[in-house]
Amino acid sequence: MNEVLHDDAAISAKKAEKIAYENNKLHKRLCRQVGQAIGDFNMIEEGDKVMVCLSGGKDSYGLLDILLTLRERAPIHFDIVAVNLDQKQPNFPAHVLPEYLTKIGVPFHIENQDTYSIVKRVIPEGKTTCSLCSRLRRGILYRVADELGATKIALGHHRDDILETFFLNMFFGAKLKSMPPKLQSDDGKHIVIRPLAYVKEVDMERYAEIRQFPIIPCDLCGSQENLQRKQIKAMLRDWEKKHPGRVENTFSALSTVVPSHLMDRDLFGFAGLRATGEAVPNGDIAFDEEPCSTGVNVVKFSGLDD
Ligand code: SF4
Repeated sequence: MNEVLHDDAAISAKKAEKIAYENNKLHKRLCRQVGQAIGDFNMIEEGDKVMVCLSGGKDSYGLLDILLTLRERAPIHFDIVAVNLDQKQPNFPAHVLPEYLTKIGVPFHIENQDTYSIVKRVIPEGKTTCSLCSRLRRGILYRVADELGATKIALGHHRDDILETFFLNMFFGAKLKSMPPKLQSDDGKHIVIRPLAYVKEVDMERYAEIRQFPIIPCDLCGSQENLQRKQIKAMLRDWEKKHPGRVENTFSALSTVVPSHLMDRDLFGFAGLRATGEAVPNGDIAFDEEPCSTGVNVVKFSGLDD
């Protein structure tokens, strides 16, 4: 009997050890990917005051948590202030974020603005409210950034948000456009950064479970999730399962754009293109089939496409 108990205890200890090892690996990966994105796009500089927008969802909690870790290790000094916009949605648990932020000792500001009533008043019943809601939220957050003296505004969008937006813009907006990791705000006064740009959503989900963030549900406003975004999300999850590497390659392609091999006349001067008589290293091999990165000819894969 004692031996059985001893075996069970040993198995449990081994399991706990394995889970701790996996959790630690995830934390290291997240820190590495966020640090990499910050470096690649020069997102945070010496003396910055970074305003981290906290919605109460898993991604913004994770973003704040990882930035706090990185700040301890960074060779530069920067400040962090967390900001939540309480939009006065029904049943919003207003005490959750202040309690959490006080507990972890992060300076914060809660901005109370009843955008919920405005949106309900202006948008007819049954119509989607997200575009007005996010426009109002954006304007308020820019003002708050000014008031707090924030030099950067950090948002919790991750790799999957970037990919979904890319396909949404292409499929429904006929544009090759996504969410940039760093951009100038539309009022021209702020720099918005997305330090989770290289991070997968599944990793953020797992991290939120491990850290037990006090998540606030995101459906309090009663708005339906955008149907088109839902479709794209399902498409990407399906690709991830059935075609390993495809989503990863699509994401990498966003950083490897060749304007001379697309069709945007504003990006590349096709009209003025003349033969110079000089060979271009790695230039177009006009009539050849493009080898894909694995060195296997793409023609072989064409029949596999959906
Ligand atoms: S889901 Fe609700 S809170 Fe979020 S943007 Fe849409 S209307 Fe606003």
